Amino acid sequence: MAVVGAGLGALAAAARLAALGHAVTVLEQAPQVGGKLGWYARDGHGFDTGPSLVTLPQLYRDLFAATGGPLEDAVDLVRLDPAVAYRFADGTPLSVPGDAAAVPGALDAALGTGAGAQWSALMARAGRMWGITEQPFLRSPLARAATLARLARSGSDVATVAPWRTLRGLGTAYLRDPRLRTLLDRYATYSGSDPRRAPAVLVTVPYVEQHFGSWYVRGGLRRLGEAVAARAVERGAVARTGTAVERVLVEGGRAAGVQLAGGEVLRADVVVSGADAAALYADLLPASRPTRRVRRDLARSTPSLSGFVLLLALRGRTPGLAHHTVLFPDDYDAEFDAVFGVGRHRGAPQPVADPTVYVSAPDDPATRPDDDSESWFVLVNAPRHAAGHDPAGGVDWDAPGLADRYAQRVLEVMARRGLDVRDRVRWCVVRTPADLERDTRSVGGSIYGTSSNGARAAFLRPGNASPVPGLFLVGGSSHPGGGLPLVALSAEIVADLVGPA
Ligand SMILES: Cc1cc2nc3c(=O)[nH]c(=O)nc-3n(C[C@H](O)[C@H](O)[C@H](O)COP(=O)(O)OP(=O)(O)OC[C@H]3O[C@@H](n4cnc5c(N)ncnc54)[C@H](O)[C@@H]3O)c2cc1C
Repeated sequence: MAVVGAGLGALAAAARLAALGHAVTVLEQAPQVGGKLGWYARDGHGFDTGPSLVTLPQLYRDLFAATGGPLEDAVDLVRLDPAVAYRFADGTPLSVPGDAAAVPGALDAALGTGAGAQWSALMARAGRMWGITEQPFLRSPLARAATLARLARSGSDVATVAPWRTLRGLGTAYLRDPRLRTLLDRYATYSGSDPRRAPAVLVTVPYVEQHFGSWYVRGGLRRLGEAVAARAVERGAVARTGTAVERVLVEGGRAAGVQLAGGEVLRADVVVSGADAAALYADLLPASRPTRRVRRDLARSTPSLSGFVLLLALRGRTPGLAHHTVLFPDDYDAEFDAVFGVGRHRGAPQPVADPTVYVSAPDDPATRPDDDSESWFVLVNAPRHAAGHDPAGGVDWDAPGLADRYAQRVLEVMARRGLDVRDRVRWCVVRTPADLERDTRSVGGSIYGTSSNGARAAFLRPGNASPVPGLFLVGGSSHPGGGLPLVALSAEIVADLVGPA
């Protein structure tokens, strides 16, 4: 069996399939495994370059239990409290506790009496939505009509999930405080989406985060990728890095193996692709009738947003700094207009002038050279990368000077909002959407494949069983979507579809 790519979805699938008795070879074009779950180290500073937050660790406990020993023997998971420190545009600080029961009280204290009750009512609805959608949608293969039928078992379930409603619409109905609405809007970005077009069911994202906790992996989240890779190898999988797959071979209408850059052919009766689905269907597979519909669906979807990242090696320590900090702008809608090229930026996406800034600064000796230093991962939402000839599709992040100018802008925005670190910077590494595309081959540097923009988006996302028998998809650009928890589910679904050797 050949597995294309060594992102977390592919590694989880490799571990499960090897444990089921398959002879698995993982082929990764980069010099190391992990994909977006990357790590950058220099002068004693260390940074996760992709994910900084683990939610639903239970899904990784399930993976480890199904493939050998417990997750907790492999990584050191830490539940964060507080979960996030927010600062709204009016200067109001809000520290959200790591325990769901404490959240309403914290909201009342920060935003005024009544805020906690508004949020609790919304989270009660979100809990019901989670109960309705988890098994038939997230944990099952995507099968258009059958999936819809499973989701629409009763009229009251449909009314609860309200598939016609947007996340913004749901927030407006439940939350009177505009700061709470801003807080909710941000969860659309966990799937790379715009809250004004993403479905209301994304309200399950804050529910899951608060109910099951926000987690960190001591030593950096990369340890999770290393642990899943090690588990796959323990179960007999072979991992080949520096090995790009150039083509998925199809013979007699079935997957027959892969061809590597350089011409080597690896025959296999099952191919599992963890590469970006848009790249798989456009470049790796021969054009054919069965794949035409998937290409059409991909063309109809809005790609997810990308990210502009600063890795800041800082002198000194910041008193009272939380693990995660979010600094909101005045005009959140302007950010989504710029990122997706809609509204006032119709047809011309551009770097966000006054972006929301997210800072992840783990208090972990593994990330710093000494106790008088800090390593900050700073992320702002960004339009995906598009070379100069496609200005409507994104921004040419390789344009001379753009990355450095925009990095300065982000540092200024942070300073205006109370986090001025400009005189503490030892060095700063900038990573643009173009860098993300080069490193992980995700088209345009989209973080999560396709976004959830639009009521039909979840059904347009490529399914785990491709139309080519023997070819399966895992990872963030296939069902059920991106992010560490969901890609673990994609691996579980594919292992069930393939079955034991
Ligand atoms: C900046 C950033 C922040 C994020 N924050 C979070 C977060 O806080 N929490 C969270 O849950 N998620 C977060 N994510 C998303 C998360 O990183 C991904 O959803 C997750 O890592 C799973 O990725 P994947 O399985 O789709 O594979 P990817 O990580 O996309 O890996 C795909 C792999 O396939 C390889 N590949 C591609 N084409 C080929 C080919 N032809 N031949 C061989 N190899 C190939 C690539 O090199 C790559 O290693 C973030 C991502 C980024 C970039």
